[in-house]
Amino acid sequence: NKSKVKLKTILLKLSGEALQGERGYGIDAVIIAEIAKEIKEVHQMGVKIALVIGGGNIFRGLSASTQGMDRATADYMGMLATTLNALAMQDALERLGIDTRVQSAIKMQELCEPYIRRRAMRHLEKNRVVIFAAGTGNPYFTTDTAASLRAMEIHADIILKATKVDGVYDKDPMKHTDAKMYKHITYLDVLRNELKVMDSTAISLCKDNKLVICVFNMNKKGNIKRIVSGEKIGTFVSD
Ligand code: UDP
Repeated sequence: NKSKVKLKTILLKLSGEALQGERGYGIDAVIIAEIAKEIKEVHQMGVKIALVIGGGNIFRGLSASTQGMDRATADYMGMLATTLNALAMQDALERLGIDTRVQSAIKMQELCEPYIRRRAMRHLEKNRVVIFAAGTGNPYFTTDTAASLRAMEIHADIILKATKVDGVYDKDPMKHTDAKMYKHITYLDVLRNELKVMDSTAISLCKDNKLVICVFNMNKKGNIKRIVSGEKIGTFVSD
């Protein structure tokens, strides 16, 4: 199994919505268990796995601020939401027997570790899955940017950006039947055409540091395994 692995360290970015399933809010226990199973398969191949999970299934700072709430306060609430998701994912992974550590960008020492880069890397060396919670720890950022930042810090080979569709399209594939999927696209094209891959801060960070992003369909079982084995599925974003 291990000889087939092409990508040794991955950072998997899941949106909060990936955990809510059909419920429209919160965390679906069945869905999170399924995602944990997918992660376990890849973990068993010897791949080092870091996770960043969003919080949009619980709270989004920007939407609360458009209803009048102070943006920074709303964003801190959003960061707490990501931590709820991180703890739920830790539980789901550990129920499958995978050692997991949550590290938060905002200290919550009673429930998880603070983010310490070297410690995170040590966990990865010991084959623990590391979940980075609370985004970057700063308001006005997103968990996509947190994913890019942490991926860089831990020297991940790639960011795997999980979505509900197969990759990046020229128009919304949910609305247009003739939407075309790109197999490869440059960072610049993503920025120029404002394609919904990740926000521009996250894309710029990846561009400046040449970190490859693979946008793929998380709803199809075995996809992460295929990518780490070198199969070219989804859309690759690079120079
Ligand atoms: N957030 C933030 N700083 C960060 C990461 C997240 O303020 O570094 C807040 C922001 O309010 C955001 C919320 O946390 O709306 C949830 O994260 P995000 O929207 O990225 O989650 P996703 O869309 O991936 O579910």
